[in-house]
Amino acid sequence: MARSSGQSPYGALLHTTTVHRGARLPTGQNGAMNTAGAAAPLATSVYADRMARARAQMEAKGIDLLLLSLGLDLPYITGYNAMPLERLTMLVVPRDGEARLVVPRMEAARVTPQPGVFEIHPWGETENPVEIVAALAKQAGPTREVAVGDQMWARFLVELLPLLPAAHYSRADVVTSMRMTKDAAEIAALKAAGAAVDRIAAQLQAGDIPLVGRTEAEVSADLSERIIAEGHQVTNFAIVAAGANAASPHHSAGDRVIRKDEILLTDFGGTMNGYCSDITRCVYLGTPPAEIADAYAVLHEAQRAAAAAGTVGTPCEEVDRVARRIITDAGFGEYFFHRTGHGIGLDAHEDPYIVEGNGLPLAAGHAYSVEPGIYVEGKWGMRLEDIIVATDDGPCPMNVANHELVSIDV
Ligand code: ZN
Ligand code: ZN
Ligand code: ZN
Repeated sequence: MARSSGQSPYGALLHTTTVHRGARLPTGQNGAMNTAGAAAPLATSVYADRMARARAQMEAKGIDLLLLSLGLDLPYITGYNAMPLERLTMLVVPRDGEARLVVPRMEAARVTPQPGVFEIHPWGETENPVEIVAALAKQAGPTREVAVGDQMWARFLVELLPLLPAAHYSRADVVTSMRMTKDAAEIAALKAAGAAVDRIAAQLQAGDIPLVGRTEAEVSADLSERIIAEGHQVTNFAIVAAGANAASPHHSAGDRVIRKDEILLTDFGGTMNGYCSDITRCVYLGTPPAEIADAYAVLHEAQRAAAAAGTVGTPCEEVDRVARRIITDAGFGEYFFHRTGHGIGLDAHEDPYIVEGNGLPLAAGHAYSVEPGIYVEGKWGMRLEDIIVATDDGPCPMNVANHELVSIDV
């Protein structure tokens, strides 16, 4: 399948991004942003280790059966990234029995075998794959507690329910919680992706990307191409919002022509070797008026302080509070109406979420965005975003591009 810039190889099913119309982030939380990365499978020992840890968690939590279908929990454990087809793909992991990847026969050639981690169980076009899953589950013994991955077509779960009537179902947070803590190789991948979008931000801030007189969509397409040119395999999104459009956090870049004397918000990222980048920088096309310069100074300080607050052991919600307090104290509280950040890794949005109510303490290896914003409807909007990794030596930024509101001479 051809991989064009600006499109995941799996197309529009999980993405609303197109290179021509500009990019939009789905607003959903968990897993709504399945960023199909082009990572080569890792060594079998990596998957064996992850599978063993998942099984240990199943043991600890009393889970009899783990079922993973679409989404990135599956490649995390197996190295196989299933296309979001109407045909069922399902990893069936009984707590004590052999794991089996139930996969359409026509897709089986794309699975890299991982001996000792899982067996491949292809199914033919005239078979009922849900019955196969139920049979494998029963074969492994009595199934009471079933943990289901966040991303599975509802139809397959609905069809499975009557086949395992005694089961109780829960979310498969065993894998999402494992994915939260990145190892050294994962952090290196995030760093490389972050450095790539930093280079694009520097191009933007240096005035190397034409802005005034072009449409938002044209600049979005330009950014999407640069994301690929800088080493990503996939562009996930390239938000470009001019003037009042920037007051909508996930504005869809359109035909609006970018003008002199307005703010331009850009928020873009892609997937490089399986791991995501995500950065937001604003520039001002001319000299910013005091209203915008003053608000930006507040935003800049809120982002800096919140990023610095992310020490190991600090609850996620405290990072949110630090940013929110500064913005609220300056009188902009009502204009900052989203959480401060999201985790990032294989998915562009994943655990941990930096939001009030999430008391989870940051641990070394947690990777997340710090992206406060101020949005004044009908006037202007601004956001500043870096990816941060929590380490025992303190918060380590994956993005170091200039944080100022750079004035572009026009
Ligand atoms: Zn966002
Ligand atoms: Zn972003
Ligand atoms: Zn983000």
